[in-house]
Amino acid sequence: MIHILPLMDFGLAIWVGYLIAAILWRRFIKRTYLWHIFGFGALVYAWGGFPYFVWIMGVRNTWGYHVTFLVNSACHIWGKQAWNTGDLSRNNWWVAVVTFGEGWHNNHHAFEYSARHGLEWWQIDLCWYVICFLKSVGLATNVKLPTEAHKLKKFK
Ligand SMILES: [Zn+2]
Repeated sequence: MIHILPLMDFGLAIWVGYLIAAILWRRFIKRTYLWHIFGFGALVYAWGGFPYFVWIMGVRNTWGYHVTFLVNSACHIWGKQAWNTGDLSRNNWWVAVVTFGEGWHNNHHAFEYSARHGLEWWQIDLCWYVICFLKSVGLATNVKLPTEAHKLKKFK
């Protein structure tokens, strides 16, 4: 293998190296993922005892799963459709409050590439505010938003 590498295009060598690293990383995670969960739980317990363990490992995970399911169920039943998406997606303010902005689900369906879900000034979107902060410190780049032309196409 070593004597073949100089014959390969340098970009191809990088790509092959990346692919091998990705395969090895996936194999490592697949074999050890339970240790990561238990290890993180042990660190949390060591840090703050049983209350931290309950809040960080139990309540946080339960909250995360349930609000995700809430967006994908409630926001297809209740709320308003601001955009012509041809589906059942809806903007729901109370889901947006508990999901930090993910409840503006009709906006998400209309402009799935958009980093911002709350497109109106009054649509509170905490995730968008975090992205704005990350952008301001240079940690987020190429942040996508819907153009006015695209908004006109989806206008209801
Ligand atoms: Zn949806």
